[in-house]
Amino acid sequence: MGSITLKNVRKAFGEVEVIPGVDLTIEDGEFVVFVGPSGCGKSTLLRLIAGLEDVTSGGISIDGKDVTDAGPAQRGLAMVFQSYALYPHMSVRKNIAFPLKMAKMSEAEQEKRVSHAAKILNLDSYLDRKPGQLSGGQRQRVAIGRAIVREPSAFLFDEPLSNLDAALRVNMRVEISELHNSLKTTMIYVTHDQVEAMTMADKIVVLRAGRVEQVGSPLELYSRPANRFVGGFIGSPN
Ligand code: ADP
Ligand code: MG
Repeated sequence: MGSITLKNVRKAFGEVEVIPGVDLTIEDGEFVVFVGPSGCGKSTLLRLIAGLEDVTSGGISIDGKDVTDAGPAQRGLAMVFQSYALYPHMSVRKNIAFPLKMAKMSEAEQEKRVSHAAKILNLDSYLDRKPGQLSGGQRQRVAIGRAIVREPSAFLFDEPLSNLDAALRVNMRVEISELHNSLKTTMIYVTHDQVEAMTMADKIVVLRAGRVEQVGSPLELYSRPANRFVGGFIGSPN
């Protein structure tokens, strides 16, 4: 399960209205990319979905259940942060298990989930290393592992690859797409990179100044952009 619905979601910081109103439906299992220029509200929208920010008005539901007033822990979603959010003094194993330890899960269940995530991510032989002894791609996989062990109904990624070099970014894109194919869990992926959006998404949500300009598959956006902003941003000739 992992369908997410936003109904007229608004967000203002003081006087400044950052999200003037967003309606959006994300189906269970979809890979959805939020794309738009820097400062258009992508992170804010993701944080509203995660429960890390409160909406100013409007409603959010997950699997048909209203979670507008629920805290992040009650939403069953996992946010994947950039790899530099790892704890440098802890082993890979402890980094991955960290959210489970916080949730006071039994050691046996922690171990089971960590092993499972490590297998999916090809980190089996690195569990006793510290993040500093890993490559950038491996560190990013540890950050993803920390989300997988929570068995979330959706993964939320906020520009997870932006501090990796270009070659590694391409590899990690493929890895995240493959992870989606194997887990079939809803993923929302925020990026300002059109290529990432076009290559990874089932559905792209183009944002501009906190508003949804268009929602569609990469092909739909490319062949029938709703306006010049979308066309220009996506790189469509139309
Ligand atoms: P994006 O992720 O698309 O780059 P953000 O969601 O981070 O954009 O920011 C959208 C706008 O909201 C920006 O103008 C930013 O300065 C503003 N903003 C974000 N968070 C806060 C905050 N906590 N307080 C005030 N303004 C904020
Ligand atoms: Mg951002």
